[in-house]
Amino acid sequence: MIPHQTIQHELEELRRKDNHRRLVSRDEIDFSSNDYLGLSDHPAIRAALIDALGRGVPLGSTGSRLLRGNHRLHERVEARLAEFRRVPAALVFNSGFEANVGVISTLCKQGGLILSDEKNHASIIDGVRASGVARRVFPHNDADAVEDALKAHKGPLPATIVTESVFSMEGDRAPLADLVALAERYGAALIVDEAHATGLYGPTGAGLLEEVDAGDVPLVSIHTCGKALGAFGAFVAGSAAVKEYLVNTCRSFIFTTALPPYLMVQWEAALDVVAAEPWRRARVTALADRLRAGLAGLADCGASSTQIVPVILGENAPTLAASQALQTRGFDVRAIRHPTVPAGSARLRVAVNATHDEATIDALLAALRDLLPGSAAP
Ligand code: PMP
Repeated sequence: MIPHQTIQHELEELRRKDNHRRLVSRDEIDFSSNDYLGLSDHPAIRAALIDALGRGVPLGSTGSRLLRGNHRLHERVEARLAEFRRVPAALVFNSGFEANVGVISTLCKQGGLILSDEKNHASIIDGVRASGVARRVFPHNDADAVEDALKAHKGPLPATIVTESVFSMEGDRAPLADLVALAERYGAALIVDEAHATGLYGPTGAGLLEEVDAGDVPLVSIHTCGKALGAFGAFVAGSAAVKEYLVNTCRSFIFTTALPPYLMVQWEAALDVVAAEPWRRARVTALADRLRAGLAGLADCGASSTQIVPVILGENAPTLAASQALQTRGFDVRAIRHPTVPAGSARLRVAVNATHDEATIDALLAALRDLLPGSAAP
């Protein structure tokens, strides 16, 4: 362990660079959570849980899946999730972080090559590092760079392209159709993290891959349940062989207590709501469009085309000040700084959700117009 003095010194450095974090809980209007569909407080989901608890669903799984922790509810939800994703198999993981680290480090082996988007989430980066496989980080969403790297790869094992489908801090989309075509042409595999797309995109809300024909490309997708599904945990979707291999060899699946069976009831009820209330995802998309239109010419929102709308301000101090000022006006919008985003690209990350309405978006726009540098006061 590093000495206490070193810890104090490093914390001081973070404060000096306006890059120190504190845990805060806020009550203002939520523009910062990943509860995109508003399902973390949905009456039908709550009722399903209360009913299941009343009927005696276990409160704890009591062990890992390979031992006593496997419950028929895990298996039932996995069958449902495979159907949702229209793939042969799904496997529950305790979190998206563990799923990414586990899947990448288990399925990618030395002799292969991992091509990873420069904007990929920390858990993907950790998975790539843990694999020990040769890696190339490609410029964000640059399919040409991916093709160059695939052409040059001569290793004994195929290359694997790893990307998010909706990028968590950019709110833009990966060129999945192009990546699938490249994987097909060069015999590569594809791992797609659908954390911010699950529940929202695709005809049934299964994610952006639902809009792409992946043909015979080896494809594994990672889906989190703590974001649009309003719960906690994650699942991995793919072939039956991949599932069986993960069950047998993936350390972050094997060596951990399984999620409690009652949580599977919550997931099922959330999937029911996704199917029954498509208006939620339509609303999120329409409101995000409204927000971006209102910010046009006023703020740099990057290439955002989803519910995540960054307002890129650059330096830490003004970004923190803007977040603070929005808080005093009743909006919970958080500042995102290095290392979550590259230094010099600090931003407000505005996340639109289905509990908002046009008036909420317009009120936020009015506050942003007042606050943003360079915008004329009304
Ligand atoms: N992938 C992405 C793209 C994420 O944004 C996150 C969470 N922020 C994760 C994975 C991790 O998921 P979880 O919160 O379930 O660990």
